[in-house]
Amino acid sequence: MGPHASFIFVKNDFLTVQILHTSIEYLKGVGPVKADLLKKEAGIFVYEDLLTYYPYRHIDRTRITRIKDLNHETEFALIDAHVISAEVVGVKRARRLVVMVTDGEGTMEMVWFQGIYYVEKAMRPGDNYQFFGKVSFFMDKPQMTHPEFQKASEGATKDYLEPVYPSTEKLKARYLGGRQIAALTEALFHQVGRNDIPENLPDSILSKYKLADRYTALRQVHFPKNMEEYEQAVRRLKFEELFLSQLRMTLLKIKRHNTSSGHVFKIVGNLFNSFFNEHLPFALTNAQKRVLKEIRKDVASGRQMNRLLQGDVGSGKTIVALLSMLIAADNGFQSCFMAPTEILARQHFESLQKLLEGMDVNVGLLTGSTSSKERKVVLEGCKDGALNIITGTHALIEDKVVFKNLGLAIIDEQHRFGVAQRARLWEKNDLPPHILIMTATPIPRTLALTAYGDLDYSIMDELPPGRTPVLTVHRSAYHRAEVMSFVRSEIEKGRQAYFIYPLIEESAKLDYEDLMKGYEEVKSFFPPPKFLISMVHGKQSADLKQTNMDRFVKGNTQIMVSTTVIEVGVNVPNATVMVIESAERFGLPQLHQLRGRVGRGSEKSYCILLSGIKLSKEAGERLSIMCQTNDGFKIAEKDLELRGPGDVEGTRQSGLLNFKLANILADKNILKVAMDAVEELVKEDPQLENESNKRLRQYLSMKRGKTVWSKIS
Ligand code: ADP
Ligand code: MG
Repeated sequence: MGPHASFIFVKNDFLTVQILHTSIEYLKGVGPVKADLLKKEAGIFVYEDLLTYYPYRHIDRTRITRIKDLNHETEFALIDAHVISAEVVGVKRARRLVVMVTDGEGTMEMVWFQGIYYVEKAMRPGDNYQFFGKVSFFMDKPQMTHPEFQKASEGATKDYLEPVYPSTEKLKARYLGGRQIAALTEALFHQVGRNDIPENLPDSILSKYKLADRYTALRQVHFPKNMEEYEQAVRRLKFEELFLSQLRMTLLKIKRHNTSSGHVFKIVGNLFNSFFNEHLPFALTNAQKRVLKEIRKDVASGRQMNRLLQGDVGSGKTIVALLSMLIAADNGFQSCFMAPTEILARQHFESLQKLLEGMDVNVGLLTGSTSSKERKVVLEGCKDGALNIITGTHALIEDKVVFKNLGLAIIDEQHRFGVAQRARLWEKNDLPPHILIMTATPIPRTLALTAYGDLDYSIMDELPPGRTPVLTVHRSAYHRAEVMSFVRSEIEKGRQAYFIYPLIEESAKLDYEDLMKGYEEVKSFFPPPKFLISMVHGKQSADLKQTNMDRFVKGNTQIMVSTTVIEVGVNVPNATVMVIESAERFGLPQLHQLRGRVGRGSEKSYCILLSGIKLSKEAGERLSIMCQTNDGFKIAEKDLELRGPGDVEGTRQSGLLNFKLANILADKNILKVAMDAVEELVKEDPQLENESNKRLRQYLSMKRGKTVWSKIS
């Protein structure tokens, strides 16, 4: 333990030195310059980070391959052979050194395009070398280009598989390529031993699931003797990742259930009942009823509710929100209803006002563009309790907004609100409000349980009756005229249509031009005054957006040309056609969200995915799944399969699913086992008080400072 090791307090008050927390700078062969790069390029700050900087593959140099045994399946091989001839052939860029070698049974060529002079000097006919490299075949004969070579007497075989690490151009330029990182890892293992890498899982779990101990696993994931050892090591480490993340979240949930006190909504009173009996325009679906029951149980329990409600697009989440807010009002509490965009916030405001007409409930709206005069009134109403329900954007979580008694916060389309932002809501009162997060971005169940394991979870898997499913088709740009005439026929029936254009941040300027071109084109097909068009995009002022939106909502325009700003929540039941331009550029959840804007009334609706003519395989699959199903959960599963979990919308920023080794899709089985293990453990020892769980508790408390919150801005 050097002077640079950092000191960490562990619960029971003695001082332990954590060599693993030593800055990487002090590892032999690193120093300040390389350390800086390792931090920036590879996220390696301390020893422990290097320990968990895992190789992506291994090279087998443990045995020598006979030349005659090389075949098209061979990737890398170690060849022991002597030189027959060495000859420079070709000119200019084809100039190369060709060395013919034999191991007695077969011959092959070793080829160099660079460093010819140096290699040629070394290769004397008759000399014996070990060559290591990637095998390729030329005219059916094996060869290696730029192999590594070593005098056979120096013995190049190793007794373990050699790790290959990811690197970057910048790292390579500073002699930190994959090979050099391997050398650092080796140096690290000279410095840290078994005692520095203590076990963190209980023995019972290790033996029950036949897992390697932690030190062995970490060592063998880098330097295994063979692939079996490697796979054992990986299984243990994946299990550890999944188990610990699941355990952390389960403990959070238990803690919240045990200790968090929340406002008690004792009664379901007049407001709820009179709305339910006299104003509700339809019967609730069974799914809506079930979810309302779950919410009612939570808010009456005395604990703080923290619930994620997942309901597919159009499943009727708004009314569930409203009914919950009426329960709050019945108990004398205020509610806020937050949406990710101004358009959506305003739309919520308007639909709530309409639904609540004739009732004694005051609704306010607060967004970034609320005028200062109105703002003053709304802020007053929040503070003195005159407002029962406040809809708005994240302007609601600003410090200036003070509530008299905020009892319930509903967050619509959660994935745009960070965890930290949610946390700010809690600070608005002595007791945190109940929290209901609603999302229409379907998340497969396994993923939801893994990513949001600290929340309670409700699902609305039923659409209100009387909807005809949206018919989705895929057309290439060749069929544009046909598509336009179809849209015209719908408009002539009195319906409305959307044209959606992609807008992706980095290329915003180009996309903006596309949108304008698109607008002109749509206009040429649908000329005024017979046809009127609204256009909405992110560069407009909130006012202009609103005016254009309103004209479309009211039916004053038949066509809406827009970017994805209308993606979430917008409700225009008379719109029956959506044309999505460059559909191949959208991700599945986004396409599904967009499509949810049509099929909201009783008329048959259509979604037309227009794409370029040449498509990547993945894009083709995306569009085809859209044509096959309207089921958001199926689409989410497919999305997960195509992109991998690290990328699924709403989880990426959270970092919650970015495991280093595990992949919750490919490692479903390990995940299942880890979840079972967590369940069993907390059933027996929910506070981790047993002696056998002591190291687990210590490990979790030490890690606490490094949780994901810091990654959320
Ligand atoms: P989302 O879950 O996507 O937010 P909304 O709450 O916007 O869905 O509801 C979509 C449409 O369905 C709205 O027009 C709403 O009035 C209607 N709706 C909601 N619940 C029902 C129901 N139980 N029966 C009939 N229509 C309903
Ligand atoms: Mg909605």
